[in-house]
Amino acid sequence: MILDFYNGDLMDEQLTGPLSADETMLALLHSRAEAERLRDRERLFSALLESVNAVLWALDWQTREIVYVSPAYEQIFGRPMAFALSSYDDWLNNIYPDDLQYAQDSLNQVLQQGAMESREYRIIRGDGEVRWLSDKCFVSQRTEAGMPLLIVGMAEDITDKKRMEEELQRLATTDVLTRSSNRRHFFESAQRAFEFAKASGESLAFLLMDIDDFKKINDRFGHQMGDLVLQRVAECGAQATRRGDLFGRIGGEEFALLLPGCDLELAEQIGGRLQRAVRQLMVPTTDGPLRVTISQGLAILHESDTGLDALYARADEAMYKAKRQGKDQIVQG
Ligand code: GH3
Ligand code: MG
Ligand code: MG
Repeated sequence: MILDFYNGDLMDEQLTGPLSADETMLALLHSRAEAERLRDRERLFSALLESVNAVLWALDWQTREIVYVSPAYEQIFGRPMAFALSSYDDWLNNIYPDDLQYAQDSLNQVLQQGAMESREYRIIRGDGEVRWLSDKCFVSQRTEAGMPLLIVGMAEDITDKKRMEEELQRLATTDVLTRSSNRRHFFESAQRAFEFAKASGESLAFLLMDIDDFKKINDRFGHQMGDLVLQRVAECGAQATRRGDLFGRIGGEEFALLLPGCDLELAEQIGGRLQRAVRQLMVPTTDGPLRVTISQGLAILHESDTGLDALYARADEAMYKAKRQGKDQIVQG
């Protein structure tokens, strides 16, 4: 019998000798008190684990079984605990498909490096909601041969933080009035697209547009009506974009559309469609529907263009030519 209630203070012969009735009673009382103390400690741990917005987990890498998840699992994953203690493959089913490769690759990195501070990926909860996790983990035990035995991790729900970051990013890159890219973001993205097109030899088209006689709209109907016209024209621009295109407001009533991989013929089609869409706008005013037109300058990337400026300058020159030629038209530069 091993009794540790004297915390090792007893001499060896006292431990090995027969226990008196008093000593037996004392031992029983102590073991009961010890069991109660352990239960209290477990309750405290459970309360602590439930109060953190993170799931602690442990994965047996030899059997690929999840051997422990903390109570926050139910709240974060939106599934009953019974789902948690499953195989690693089942666990992977929780992960948002676009992030699955990353989650697996980063875990492999953990196996090699021993730990990883920042792994961020999305999961799909039981109710279908997508949530962001920051899942820090490390190899906690290895076999004698150094193979990973137990991996433990802490998966924290960072969805709110991610949403806030996205919102800040959106605010920093978009124009408040028209919700299109702002000038700075447009030109930063355009610079990257220009460099990519130069390096890859892909085509690139640039459309510059300016609302015709916009000052008259402001003067006649007021600034608020001018703002409404800007919003409606921006909607037409956004609708003209394909995946990978970029539409931005680069000045007061000036917009630009960048079309990667787009040749002259396609750029003319897209510009033409935009020209007609704006012409068809009818903005209601007290004097009846207001008609709006735009002038556009189109430029295609030339091999001799050493910078985005060259492309922009040609589109700008073409746009002013469209103005001089009577407005409401596209001119190629
Ligand atoms: P053009 O056909 O030659 O382009 O003439 P325009 O009147 O369109 O051009 P101009 O440059 O003379 O006037 C542009 C006006 O756009 C002047 C400015 O007050 C107005 N503007 C600039 N930003 C805003 C804005 O955010 N809201 C409103 N309502 N007006 C704006
Ligand atoms: Mg104008
Ligand atoms: Mg202008």
